[in-house]
Amino acid sequence: MSRNQALIELTDKYGARNYHPLPIVISKAEGVWVEDADGNKYMDMLSAYSALNHGHRHPRLIAALKEQADKVTLTSRAFHNDQLGLFYEKVAQLTGKEMILPMNTGAEAVETALKAARRWAYDVKKVPENQAEIIVCENNFHGRTITAVSLSSSDEYKRGFGPLTPGFKIIPYGDVEALKAAITPNTAAFLVEPIQGEAGVIVPPEGYLREAYQVCKEHNVLFIADEIQTGFGRTGQLFACDWEDVRPDLYVMGKALGGGVMPISAVAGDKEVMGVFEPGSHGSTFGGNPLACAVSVAALDVLVEEKLPQRSRELGEYFMAELKQIQNPIIKEIRGKGLFIGMELFEPARPHCERLAEEGLLCKETHENTIRFAPPLTITKEELDWALDKIRKVMTA
Ligand code: PLP
Repeated sequence: MSRNQALIELTDKYGARNYHPLPIVISKAEGVWVEDADGNKYMDMLSAYSALNHGHRHPRLIAALKEQADKVTLTSRAFHNDQLGLFYEKVAQLTGKEMILPMNTGAEAVETALKAARRWAYDVKKVPENQAEIIVCENNFHGRTITAVSLSSSDEYKRGFGPLTPGFKIIPYGDVEALKAAITPNTAAFLVEPIQGEAGVIVPPEGYLREAYQVCKEHNVLFIADEIQTGFGRTGQLFACDWEDVRPDLYVMGKALGGGVMPISAVAGDKEVMGVFEPGSHGSTFGGNPLACAVSVAALDVLVEEKLPQRSRELGEYFMAELKQIQNPIIKEIRGKGLFIGMELFEPARPHCERLAEEGLLCKETHENTIRFAPPLTITKEELDWALDKIRKVMTA
């Protein structure tokens, strides 16, 4: 039995079955390349759902990790640590926001934003107690906690997990009129992905974010952008909201915030909203730990210095134009922004992802019929051409 096969059997023997991975056992990685346990090489076109915007093991991030690991890794928030303030300052500069709250995973950051929005509704907007409503979109993905699945429109995500958290209204994505109609005096916030990732890289109509933001402002409703997957250069701007010059009330960030090295997430907002938290109202043992903060500061510096958003924009345009040349009647649509591209098929995408993997290109189907292409933003044009050759080979009719 190959080493790959033995490791898959071990994983299957003890692991809960909440994922259905492709049968590739990654055991080493560098840049856009990964290697399996038997020494086969692949290009990573998923980037851990956009957490690896910097590529695998970016040298500056690994250096920051090692340097910090030799000093202190965890303090809890019972004490200060010497990295947290530097992390706050960096995130504040990039978002233009006054206050930051650090957590670890995306779902926790979403929960944090929802707690902030509800508290703000009661304390500032003066919504009657326990009446606050939050508007979300159909086919959203905001994580897997009970509350994150409560606001999902997917039965698959919710089945057997009730009773669910109340207080959410689901409206169609990309529809400003639906947003207007859903707002009541008790609406605290509108939570939205600027591009829906897990739904299949769904790009809303142009102007949607700007108009939705304006509607929120007119009705004293917080506009919360879940930039967990779209942030940090993925769509060709630092944040996807930048495409429409929207500065959300709350930025929800995760994934690439830790450079694919450490889990770290955060919510950034102004004092009027983020000031609602007092000691004891929220927190996390590992949130804001010095190891993750040190890596994140390095990740944000690399993002700016290596102009990753610009690379994503330029290479994404090229990549998309080349993909659109592929002739095959099973291809329904190719869409996206920057290096965040979905190829929707008229049939299930998984067999095509399996064939691409056989050719050495790793990507994953999302929502049954869509192949998501999201390489590290550090990818070179030559590497992208290599990938295009494989995609043409597998996808041409
Ligand atoms: N929000 C969005 C838009 C996401 O894409 C994801 C993960 O894919 C999450 C939230 C959840 O993040 P995590 O898996 O780190 O909890």
